[in-house]
Amino acid sequence: MPENAFSHVTTWVFDLDNTLYPPEARLFDQIEVRMTAWVMKALGVSQAEADRMRRDYWHDHGTTLSGLMRLHDVDPGPYLADVHEIDMSHLQRDPDLAAHIRDLPGRKIVFTNGSGPYAERVLEARGLSGLFAAIYGIEHAGFHPKPDRAAYDTVFGTDGLDPTRAAMFEDDPRNLIEPFAMGLRCVHVAPDPVEAPHVHHSTADLSGFLKALL
Ligand SMILES: [Mg+2]
Repeated sequence: MPENAFSHVTTWVFDLDNTLYPPEARLFDQIEVRMTAWVMKALGVSQAEADRMRRDYWHDHGTTLSGLMRLHDVDPGPYLADVHEIDMSHLQRDPDLAAHIRDLPGRKIVFTNGSGPYAERVLEARGLSGLFAAIYGIEHAGFHPKPDRAAYDTVFGTDGLDPTRAAMFEDDPRNLIEPFAMGLRCVHVAPDPVEAPHVHHSTADLSGFLKALL
């Protein structure tokens, strides 16, 4: 059944964090600690206040960075370099996932709210380097994060992909709302996949899902 649903797809769009590696790696826990520390230092606030700001910015602006840029005029470059300076030894290479991505017919791209250099490091640690025609980080989206429509318009416009012939894999269901509206085939990837009107397919096992398509 899924193969028919994807037979029109020529571009495969993958989120990075908690999509191309399992959430058990808990990479984002490290990033969150660094984000909180960065906010505390840059804005001179307590840890509790920094955590509250991060929660609110994620909810209201899509990411912590987006809230910091809009409300505090933060320069994204140094922030992104700092918060992504994490230990990746928890990540393991995944030869099966690499093979299934390689075998997908068409172009494969990465689209992350993290930075491009960070994405390259994660892909390297997972053994997924060289599989993607392009890697788009937040800097390529004009610092508009998913789920903002501007992020998709910017990245998809730069890439030149046809949304009606693309599929997207993502762990945050919010980030599939606009892609669904634009005509992409939307797959929610998470340990507890959700069913929602804007989710065509959901899976807890990206590698197995791709294998079934091939
Ligand atoms: Mg993600």
